[in-house]
Formats: sequence, structure tokens, C-alpha cells
Amino acid sequence: MIRDDFPDLPDFPPGEVWLAGAGPGDPRLLTVLALHALQVADDIVHDALIDARVLRLAAKGAELIAAGKRGGRPSPHQRDINEVLIERARLGRRVLRLKGGDPFVFGRGWDEAAALTAAGIRFRIIPGLTSGLAAAALAGIPATSRDTNHAVVLAAGHRAEDGRSAADWQALAKLGQPLILYMPMAQLAEIAASLEQGGLSSDTPAALIQSATTGAEQVVESRLGSLAADAAKHGIGSPAIVVIGAIAGLRGQLLSSLVPWR
Ligand code: SAH
Repeated sequence: MIRDDFPDLPDFPPGEVWLAGAGPGDPRLLTVLALHALQVADDIVHDALIDARVLRLAAKGAELIAAGKRGGRPSPHQRDINEVLIERARLGRRVLRLKGGDPFVFGRGWDEAAALTAAGIRFRIIPGLTSGLAAAALAGIPATSRDTNHAVVLAAGHRAEDGRSAADWQALAKLGQPLILYMPMAQLAEIAASLEQGGLSSDTPAALIQSATTGAEQVVESRLGSLAADAAKHGIGSPAIVVIGAIAGLRGQLLSSLVPWR
């Protein structure tokens, strides 16, 4: 048990919910707190994207409940997920709500925390390594470097998630700062076109990173103008993040020394 090495890890009392991020996939990127939660929880309500290698760390006898949302597939409503968390907590279970990446980055963690608060159920937040930043870093793409940018935008590409319009993308293009897109694949061509209309050159460096830290990982260097074509050519599909901006062009300088992740 991880607790043997970290004796001050918190108790997980019955009836509490822990909202934890599992990072981008590989269990080595779990936090110590998330591993502790996995080892002691009674119920683990997890997203579809949670890596099987992570779920295998659950205690024997823990109940695994799949509650993921996944683009294009039938998925439980957020309300139903909230209810499962509340019901299980009221039964006196120690409920781990395990999400991909960080629970508060495009993860509906806020909705769940608010629902638990309204129900009077105590909860704890355990941050995770968000996939956009981790996938980029592992590919040799810094979120910031002094020579390229002083800000970085994390944006959701999936229209259903945030209803972002072409005008919004054009406004983001005008910031002149790199973008890291989550859930970008369904709208990739439209987003790229809007960014170009907003003033970004079709030559702007870009990268597609699929399934970072898993066996299906693929990193494809591209340009804004050819993102959709390169995605199709290399068969890039969800889950993937897209990095657009000068930072995406820096990785080439590192590749001769960057040790492969796995
Ligand atoms: N809360 C999560 C994001 C959930 S939205 C986080 O902080 O990472 C789901 C999106 O996350 C996917 O569509 C994809 O854009 C991204 N994603 C999650 N895991 C990923 C991975 N291993 N590699 C690349 N992108 C990933």
C-alpha cells in the first residue's frame, strides 16, 4: 500500500466522494493521492477514457462503475452520474470518481462538486496531470518557452461541449498565443479555417498527439493549413490533442536527445 511510504495520506471516510484526475493514461503519471484513493475506495465511478492499467490498481472487491462520456457513443447524462455518486455516498461507500487528466479541465468536475455540495456530501478534489499539457510535454513541446510565448490557451474543440463559434476561434487567433485543443477531431477542418480567417498563417506549426502515454500513441507534426489532411493521412482519432503555434515547431530541436517515453 502506498500509505506505508506516505503515512500522512488522508483517511477516506465512508460516505465521502473523492473527485480525482488519473492523468493522461499511463499509471506512472498518477499522483500519490490518486493511487492511494484507488487502493482504498469501495466504488470507483470512472470515465471511458480511464486506462485499464489504472483500473487494475483498484482494491480487490472494489466495484468498478463505468460512467464515461465519450463523443459519438451513448453516454449517461451528467445528472445520472451525479445521482450515482450521491446514492453511493449515502450508502456509506467510499466513492472514488476517477476522471481522465484533471477533473477541473474539461472534465465536468465542477458540476459534480456542485451537485455533491447541494446534496450535503463531503468531497475532496485530487488534481491530475491534464492531458493537453502532459501530451505536449512528452512529445517535446513546451507549453511556454521564453522565445515563443507568454501565455497558452486551453480550448475545447468539440462544439457540443461549448458551442464555440467561428467568431470565437477568430478572436483566439488574434491573441497570437499558442492553442492547445481538447476534443478537436470532430471539428478540426472548421476550427483550422476559422483560425486562418482570424489571421493565423496556414504555415503556423502544429502537432497532433493521439492517445498520449498509451500503446496507441501517435505524434504527427503538421501545419495549420494541413491539419485535417494530416489527421486523415495518419489515421489520427479521438482521444487526441492538437497544439497550434510556435511551440509546436520546437520539438524538432530536441528529438536527437529526447528519450522515448515508453
Ligand atoms: N479532464 C481531461 C480532459 C477531458 S476531455 C484532462 O484534463 O485531460 C477529453 C479530451 O481530452 C479528449 O478528447 C482529448 O482531447 C484529451 N485527452 C484525454 N486523454 C488523452 C490522451 N491520452 N492523449 C491525447 N489526448 C487526450
